[in-house]
Amino acid sequence: MDTSGLPGLDQRIAGCRACPRLVAWREEVAATKRAAFADWTYWGRPVPGFGPPDARLLIVGLAPAAHGGNRTGRMFTGDRSGDVLYQALYDVGLASQPTAVCADDGLELYGVRVTAPVHCAPPANKPTPEERDTCRPWLVQELKLLRPTLRAVVVLGAFGWQAALPAFAAAGWRLPRPRPAFAHGTRVRLDGLDLFGCFHVSQRNTFTGRLTPAMLREVLGEAARTAGLPAENGGTAPQQGR
Ligand code: SF4
Repeated sequence: MDTSGLPGLDQRIAGCRACPRLVAWREEVAATKRAAFADWTYWGRPVPGFGPPDARLLIVGLAPAAHGGNRTGRMFTGDRSGDVLYQALYDVGLASQPTAVCADDGLELYGVRVTAPVHCAPPANKPTPEERDTCRPWLVQELKLLRPTLRAVVVLGAFGWQAALPAFAAAGWRLPRPRPAFAHGTRVRLDGLDLFGCFHVSQRNTFTGRLTPAMLREVLGEAARTAGLPAENGGTAPQQGR
C-alpha cells in the first residue's frame, strides 16, 4: 500500500472523520440509499481527488453529492453534474470517455485532476463554514503535492472559490489584495499558476442554461491550453448527444 504522495493522501482523506455532522449524514445516506440504487453498496466515506498525481490542470468543485460521489467513491461520478463535467472534458480531449458511472468504469483523465474543498457529502449540498475550514488542510496538502506540475486551476462556483483561495495562500501562492471576487470567466494570475472561475456544473445551473456545455468547454479548453495540455477547441466542439 502506497502511503506517500497523492495516493497516500487519498487514503488518509478516505479515513477522515473530523466533521461529526457530515460523518453522520454520509453514513445515513449510505445506509438508507435512494430507491434507484438499492442494490448498490454505497461508498459512504470521504471522496478523495481523482486524476493523475502529475496533473497540470486541477478542477475544484464544492463537495460530493449524496447519491453521486458518496455512492460511487469517485468525484463527480454517478450524478448529473458529473455527466456534464466529464462530457465536457471528453469533448476537449482531456478524458478517455464521456461518461462516469462507477469507480471502475475505465475513465481516465489526461493531465487533469478533479477535487473538492469539502470531501464529504453535506446535507442539502451545503457544508457549514466550520466544515469547510476543517477540510481545508486536505486541499492544502493536495495543492502542495501537485505544485511541481500544476499550471492552471478551474474553480467551479463561488463556494469553491471562497474555499479554495485561502488554500492556495496556505500552499504557498501569493494572492492579490483585495482577494479577487468570483465570476464566470474570471482569470487570476498567481506566480506560475492561472486560476479560472466557472459557474458550477450543478443541475440548477445547467438546467436553466446559466452554464451551457459550450461555456464549460470554453473555460476548460482555455485553462488546459494555459496549462500546456493539448486541448481541442473547447468553444466550438460539437455537442454529443445533448
Ligand atoms: S468534510 Fe473533510 S474534514 Fe470533514 S470529515 Fe469529511 S474529509 Fe474529514
